[in-house]
This record gives sequence, C-alpha cells and structure tokens, in this order.
Amino acid sequence: MNLKASFHTLGCRLNQAETALISNRFRAQGYDIVDERAASDVCVINSCTVTEGADSKCRQLVRQVLRRNPNTFVAVVGCYAQIGAEALKQIEGIDLIIGTQDKLRVLDFIDEPLKLPEPRLVRSRMTKDPFTIAANDLSAPTTRANLKIQDGCDFMCSFCVIPFARGRARSRAFWDIQREALQLINAGHQELVLTGVNIGTYSFEEKTFLDVVKMLLTIPALKRLRISSIEPTTIPYELIDLMADSDVLCPHLHIPVQSGDDAVLAAMKRLYTRSEFEAFIEHAQRRIPHALIATDMMIGFPNETEAAFQASCDLLMNAPLAYAHVFTFSERDGTAASKYANHVSSQKKKARSARLHELSEQKKRQFYERSVGQTLRVLTEEQEADGRWAGYTDNYVRMVLEDPRLSHNQLVHARVTQAQAAHVMGEMVTP
Ligand code: SF4
Repeated sequence: MNLKASFHTLGCRLNQAETALISNRFRAQGYDIVDERAASDVCVINSCTVTEGADSKCRQLVRQVLRRNPNTFVAVVGCYAQIGAEALKQIEGIDLIIGTQDKLRVLDFIDEPLKLPEPRLVRSRMTKDPFTIAANDLSAPTTRANLKIQDGCDFMCSFCVIPFARGRARSRAFWDIQREALQLINAGHQELVLTGVNIGTYSFEEKTFLDVVKMLLTIPALKRLRISSIEPTTIPYELIDLMADSDVLCPHLHIPVQSGDDAVLAAMKRLYTRSEFEAFIEHAQRRIPHALIATDMMIGFPNETEAAFQASCDLLMNAPLAYAHVFTFSERDGTAASKYANHVSSQKKKARSARLHELSEQKKRQFYERSVGQTLRVLTEEQEADGRWAGYTDNYVRMVLEDPRLSHNQLVHARVTQAQAAHVMGEMVTP
C-alpha cells in the first residue's frame, strides 16, 4: 500500500504555488495525496510568519495535526520555519523543520517517515542567485495554476519580516518559467497566475517582468494570464496598455497601498506617496474601465493618528478600489518598526480594523452591483453541493451559476444577474 501525504498551506499565494510543487513531488515518488484532515504518514505544513497571528496559527495547526494523528511524520517548512525554528522546536512531535532555501526539497530529508525523538533542523543560507525549479509530474486536478517567477524582496519596508524569512530578491530563469508554463498548459490549466514576493522586480539577465508577461502571452494555448499582488512602484505603464488590449491578460490588479497617509507611508518606508498611488490606479481604471483593482491596507502602524486612519478610509472610499484586504500591524522582531514609539492600543486597532473591513465590504458590494447586466467570462472551478458551479471571472469576481451544460474547467460567458455579499450570480450566454 502506498504511503499517504497531506499538506497544509498557511499564508500567501506564493506558498500555495510552492505547496503544489512539493505535493507533486510526493505524488511522483509514489505517495497518495490525501485531504488535509485525513490521517497520513507524512504531513507537510507550509508556514507563514507575516504577523504574530500567523505564527500562532502555525503552532496551533501543528498541535491539532498531532492531536488528530500522533503518529504522522510532521514537517514544518517555509517562512515561520526559517525564523521561528526555536519556538517550533518546543512543540513535541515535530520531526522536521526546513527553512526557505530547502523547502521544496522536503522529500530529500525523509528517508522513511519514522517519528524522530528530536526535530531535525535544516536551515541553509539563502542565496541571491537566480533559480530554476525541477520539472514536475502534474496529475493533480487542473483549472488555474500558480506559476512562481520570483522570490525574496530587497525593499525592506519597516513593518515587514518577509525579507528575513524569504531572503533577498531573486528571479527564476526566464527559460525555466517558459518550460513550466508550457507544461502546466499542456496538463490542461487554462489560467496561470504569476506569483512571487515582489514580482514587479523580476530581473534575469536582460529580462524584466514585462518580458515575462509578453513571453507568456505568445503561447497560443494559454487562455488566461493573471498577475498576483504587485508593488505600486514596480508596474510599468506598458503593462496597463497590454492589459487593456489583451483577451488573455486578466483585467485585475492587486496593488498594496498599506496607508492613505503620507507620513505613515514614509515611516513604513514605502516608495510612493498617496497621490502617486492614486494617479496610477486612476489611470489604470480609465484605461480599463472593467478592471478590478484591489489593495492591502494596514491599520494600527505606530503613530497612526485618527486623521491618518481616516485618510486610509477616504482613500478606500474615493479611489477606484474594489476592496481592501485589511491587516493589523504587528510587531515583528528585527524590523525597523518594532523599535518605533507610539504604538496604537489594541482596542483602537480592533475598532479601526472592524471599520475598514466594513468599508471594504461596502466597496466590494458596489463593485458587484455595478457588474449586474454585464457579460463576463468565467472559469468553472468547483461544483457546490447543490450542483451549481463556481469560479472566477476574468476580472476576479467570484460567480456562481447553474446550467446543466456546465462541467469542470470550462471557460464560458455569463451574464451577471444578481450581486450578493461574497459573489455574483450569473447565467450562461452564448457568445
Ligand atoms: S515590498 Fe515591502 S511589504 Fe512587500 S515583501 Fe517587500 S518588504 Fe515586505
């Protein structure tokens, strides 16, 4: 009987991309991949450390896994394993802790999944070199695949621990991106999502991020190309032109602004002002009226006054933003902001977070309501228990639709009939 492996992913889309790579390797080695809650011989937890909350979520998850299945071989890999190894070692039952540099090679450190008396720690120096990713067996279900093109970050925003957890910026070899893209498309994926920590800074030999996008757009069988979160100062205007003129490059941008207040942005060591950010997204929305532009906002940064918080609320409400992912500032060891004075009380942080969430929901609802009556292209990704299909439109609106002609992994056109809180309803139309 084959050994079984299960996988948990915490955190960002890049982690999702990497978990897919790791699990494909387990499959190629003869493991059966089972649901994350099922009993398994090996359980890999791909961790996140972006906030204190992420750290504690990881520790809780490890304990939960071990409670459910004390004999499973537990490997914790990735960002929290890189900088929180000491805390993880205190949890009895972990067998393997692997930092960022070697996380994709987790299988190389498991001869037999036998519980170890002490966790083995693998944490090598992170390089700045370009990288490739070994070819994979791809027999997992298909629709949309994350394609990792970059890792690490040199920006050193004052609140962010990611440069410590992921290391310096480095890019994947251009030809290796093309190779994997072709492999993913041949395996049936209709959509590729470009992922990395700071993808706009992609740089390999003479190639830039824009070159990666242009190269992928030349692959005739690729139906959709999506860009995941991208830093404001790294988006070339030409990308917006490409997006406006292409049926393949999705009209969807996620651009983290973090704050609407210039003093807070400067203290965060972000590389732009509010008005520069606004000017850019207004240009993008003018050029691509149906684009969905979303953002990340952080509340409770040290010295965030009531007026500064209000500036973030105003920005969200008045700029062409469809919604914001709201994060609460948390002090991370080693970052510049952890030494800043005038921390915001947790009570205020809670209230501000709730307020910004509320405004974000309002904006999202408005965006969804504006889309009623529009005909959008949607990819059928999952079937709900009641038989209806759900998936995302080109501009990243979740749509639910019911039609007996539908099946998995179809790109169809549908008219939006109704807006709901978390998705829109649609009905299929013949294009
Ligand atoms: S750009 Fe700033 S927030 Fe994003 S990973 Fe780099 S340092 Fe962190």
